[in-house]
Amino acid sequence: MNLKKILALALAATVLFTGCENRREETKQALENQKMENRHEATSFAMDTIMTFTVIHEDGDQIIIDAEQRIRELENLLSITLENSEVSRLNAAAGKEAIEVSKDTWILLEAGKNLGAGTGGAFDIAISPVVKAWGFTEAEHHVPTQAELDALLPLTNPDDVVLDKMTVYLEKEGMAVDLGGIAKGYASDEVASLLKGKGVESAIVSLGGNVFGIGTKPNGEKWEVALANPLDANDYCGLISIEDKAVVTSGGYQRFFEENGKKYHHIIDPATGYPAENGLLSVTIISESGMEADVLSTALFVMGLEDGLKYWQENGGFEAIFVTETGEVIATEGADACFTFEGRDNDFTYRMVERG
Ligand code: AMP
Ligand code: MG
Repeated sequence: MNLKKILALALAATVLFTGCENRREETKQALENQKMENRHEATSFAMDTIMTFTVIHEDGDQIIIDAEQRIRELENLLSITLENSEVSRLNAAAGKEAIEVSKDTWILLEAGKNLGAGTGGAFDIAISPVVKAWGFTEAEHHVPTQAELDALLPLTNPDDVVLDKMTVYLEKEGMAVDLGGIAKGYASDEVASLLKGKGVESAIVSLGGNVFGIGTKPNGEKWEVALANPLDANDYCGLISIEDKAVVTSGGYQRFFEENGKKYHHIIDPATGYPAENGLLSVTIISESGMEADVLSTALFVMGLEDGLKYWQENGGFEAIFVTETGEVIATEGADACFTFEGRDNDFTYRMVERG
């Protein structure tokens, strides 16, 4: 073969290759366009919070309606403020009789109790009487007296929530369960499995800050979840990239009231009956389970940084990002791997903690 021929062949191969590449690019673009056309978005209000759905699927609108219906079904079972919910009936029967509950309520009470025990009581499904005393349940906020809290704290022992073959008994009159720290995470898991069951491979839902990302964005990149700046609702502290994961944040900034110039938030330290004050502004958990992430974000917020990190060291299966009152953003090793620390105008500093 002479040089001319070789060059001609090489050129032809290049053209062929580029042609292939172009066609591949075109096909990729066409696929992406198709996926964009299949992008369905909706916002609704349920479980006392705003919920957003982004679903990439040709039947996306209907699938979102189905997801909303499942969420309403859960709300009707689990709400502490709807008088006829299963949880309200259970609370009304405290000290009187055991109540048979449905599978969802059972799963949440059992998981809440077990995971809560693992957190040394920082997460307490029986905390309701104290949460109510602060007025967070009915949104009639006030600081309770120490005498009130002293009388209520003995009614918040999760060991007194007795679970037995789908029936639940709250042993003392005046006890009540509150699934506000776990239900939205569970709902996000349920929505994710409903979506996957309908063939959805790309979606992101946020149930009042309980985010679940299914698969990746239509273009193959990971979903990005902003880490809220607890000091500025218009800013953020960084971006968390996820694929098939839940991201849940708990923070005092999310729900609070002010009395005599002092702020009181909604996450109660079961040891004191007072809003947890352990130097944290927020805790974000990244996990495959939305329910676990929900429990742990609340629990680690109560524990504070040191005990929270210790819990992470001793228990696997999740990663965490802490924002402290002293202006630090601290990510566990695995969280660091999917976190980009940035923000428009924040004064926070960043560091990573190794598992050691
Ligand atoms: P979250 O927003 O997930 O951190 O949950 C906070 C909600 O859970 C509050 O609004 C209460 O309804 C409830 N809650 C407050 N303190 C606790 C606690 N220590 N353990 C379990 N649930 C709690
Ligand atoms: Mg929670």
